[in-house]
Amino acid sequence: MPHRHSSIEILPSSVIEKIAAGEVIERPASVIKELIENAVDAGATKIDAAAIDAGFSRITVADNGCGMDQADLDKSLLRYATSKIRSADDLFAVKSMGFRGEALASIAAVSRLTITSSADTGGLGHMIAGEGGVYGPPQPAAHGKGTTVEVRDLFYNVPARKKFMKSRRSEQAAVVRVVEQLAAAFPSVHFTLTIDGARFLDYPAADSLLARIGGIAGLSFAKGLIECRNARPGMEMVAYISSPELLQARPRFQSLYVNSRRVDSDAVTYAVREAFGQFLGGQYRPSFFCFLTVDPSRIDVNVHPAKQLIKFDDERALSSFVYAAVKQAIGATLPGPADLSGNQTRPESAAVGPEEAALEPVQEQLYLVKSGPASGSGVAETIIPFPVSPKNNEQAVAGAPGDQQGPDAAWDLISCYQIHETFILAPIKNGILLIDQHAAHERILFEQALEDIARGRSASQQLLFPVVIELSAVEKPIVLAGLSFFTAFGFELSDFGGNALSASAIPFFMRTSDVEPAVRSMVRYLLEEKERDVFKETAKRFAAAFACGAAIKAGQKLNQEEMNALVNSLFAAKSPYTCPHGRPTLVRISLDELLRRFLR
Ligand code: ADP
Ligand code: MG
Repeated sequence: MPHRHSSIEILPSSVIEKIAAGEVIERPASVIKELIENAVDAGATKIDAAAIDAGFSRITVADNGCGMDQADLDKSLLRYATSKIRSADDLFAVKSMGFRGEALASIAAVSRLTITSSADTGGLGHMIAGEGGVYGPPQPAAHGKGTTVEVRDLFYNVPARKKFMKSRRSEQAAVVRVVEQLAAAFPSVHFTLTIDGARFLDYPAADSLLARIGGIAGLSFAKGLIECRNARPGMEMVAYISSPELLQARPRFQSLYVNSRRVDSDAVTYAVREAFGQFLGGQYRPSFFCFLTVDPSRIDVNVHPAKQLIKFDDERALSSFVYAAVKQAIGATLPGPADLSGNQTRPESAAVGPEEAALEPVQEQLYLVKSGPASGSGVAETIIPFPVSPKNNEQAVAGAPGDQQGPDAAWDLISCYQIHETFILAPIKNGILLIDQHAAHERILFEQALEDIARGRSASQQLLFPVVIELSAVEKPIVLAGLSFFTAFGFELSDFGGNALSASAIPFFMRTSDVEPAVRSMVRYLLEEKERDVFKETAKRFAAAFACGAAIKAGQKLNQEEMNALVNSLFAAKSPYTCPHGRPTLVRISLDELLRRFLR
């Protein structure tokens, strides 16, 4: 047998060090992160970080923490040297940011490093300096209590690493980001960041998480955040989440902290997003700062060298814990039926007639109005089904978390104004609501249609003279295939020969003149929706089609009663804040905001 050319050899320690360093120190921002974490662990109340040339030329982190004496300083650069844990058991009781004892060793291997530190206030300490992992013994040096770490020429001996680095600009952005993220978790610590000699961030000690978030993200941003709290044995959470009313397509912050450690967890992020999504559709995402305090024995922080990932013993329980708290807190801040009542005086022009009907709500009572001048069919026509009384319907109450008032609160008539025949303006207790009449009606009809499908039949009106609906050869089969759904919605349709159908009964609230356009737009909706695949369930697809086709359109004039019925019905819905497709149905402008806009 010929000798193999290669044989297994243990790598020289300088190479091992570089490989190991690569796991912890990926970029300048990782250096800043590790050094600030060390300063926090040392109990510092002031931490000053500085970077030159995005951190490649120099990174300095100075703290006023406990410092190190000569012996500790000497050991600090050794790999797996730590003062923070002593045994494997301690890994499940980690209270400090660090515990792996490899950050300083890693940084030392790939830079020119100097650490100056003193454990007492005498003004004298020690310094250790070297490069590429080769360091001399500590030398006496002047230093107040605390530690200053200086990292020069990062990756000078790892050219490959430097080559793969992104632009200076994005490395600098990452440095800023990392300081912001760490600062958020430790409001009582004064942080500063200096970049290329200029003061970039300065967060003086704050007395609360929210105050610190205000420092980082801006006061106006922090003011709009919703606080969510939840606690159960071994688990506590406080989170600050942007209001769904802010409508952000791209969130600024999605920061999760577990025991003050910034970590990524898809499960938690998903739970927050889902809870938020209850109030708003999928295209909008919340900004959030979520701080979890979890019994350290229930998590494993040691799954990633940079300590960015974390394992929970029961991820499901955690998700539902977060979800419940966020949903509850957001729901409580949004306008509900209770906001509609109280402060209103009705405009003189408003009709008074049907008010009695509104005062005594009956299950599924319909709000009857005379047909408009354009319609001459003679059928008593209705436009908007009045909501189910909150008294008899738990869902109505569940859907309105803000409602602390008596069940009759939802029935107060309020003065509404129609704007551009598209939006409804309604004064509410703490501001005004602007409601998109089509989106709102779509939401109401969608939920009603789903109920109709479940129950099999909706209220309908028999027509004396059937309406003939002309469709195309493509359209007609769509209706026939979904005939049971159409029946559930209140239609009685039969084949009229050719491509036509005849309707002998229609939904109770529909005007005969609207039947043909409504059915036509339902079919069009179904044709398009099929391609877009928004709703997986057929029933939902048909309900959405019905809602879209039958809902009042922009450009349709509404009177007081109709607007009131719409607003009240909307707040009786399960998910009043979005249309079936997730677009908002209403925008609230609070009194606070109005006052602000008028500089009062
Ligand atoms: P770890 O933080 O995981 O323990 P490091 O390599 O980051 O590992 O630090 C090694 C040790 O050096 C720490 O355990 C700590 O005792 C000491 N140390 C590092 N930085 C500081 C500091 N800023 N102040 C006081 N001690 C420090
Ligand atoms: Mg550390």
